[in-house]
Amino acid sequence: MAEQAQATDSGPRPIVPFLKLGSNPHLEGQKCSTCGAIFLDPKRVACSKCGSTGTLKPIALSNKGKVYVFSVVHQSFPGIKTPYITVIVDLPEGVSVRSNLIDVNHEELQKDPKKGFDMPVELVTSVVAKDREGHEVVAFQYRPSK
Ligand SMILES: [Zn+2]
Repeated sequence: MAEQAQATDSGPRPIVPFLKLGSNPHLEGQKCSTCGAIFLDPKRVACSKCGSTGTLKPIALSNKGKVYVFSVVHQSFPGIKTPYITVIVDLPEGVSVRSNLIDVNHEELQKDPKKGFDMPVELVTSVVAKDREGHEVVAFQYRPSK
């Protein structure tokens, strides 16, 4: 019997390499074992804080964070539904991540922007497209945490 769903060739694909799918979707950062700095950029080869190389190890980042700044987008590319809310979310690890905020009324947020700043949010994933081979493409967003 299969114990856990494994990502296979026919499975969904994350839209960015640092989004890890599976039973507990999360973002994966890299932590420097020399100075403890954490980065989201998966292609980093050296720690930009202390300059060490080969010290960056994968680390699962928290799925909860706080809105640092947000912006309501009214115009976008053709085919992209507007308005939507973009956010930069601060994670407890000290990493910031850019994403979209869902389940929030943008008009209420514009009327009372104070509600947006420091709003506790949690990561959610959703299928946003299919790639050329028919794999589902999964993106992540944030929503107010319960
Ligand atoms: Zn370092």
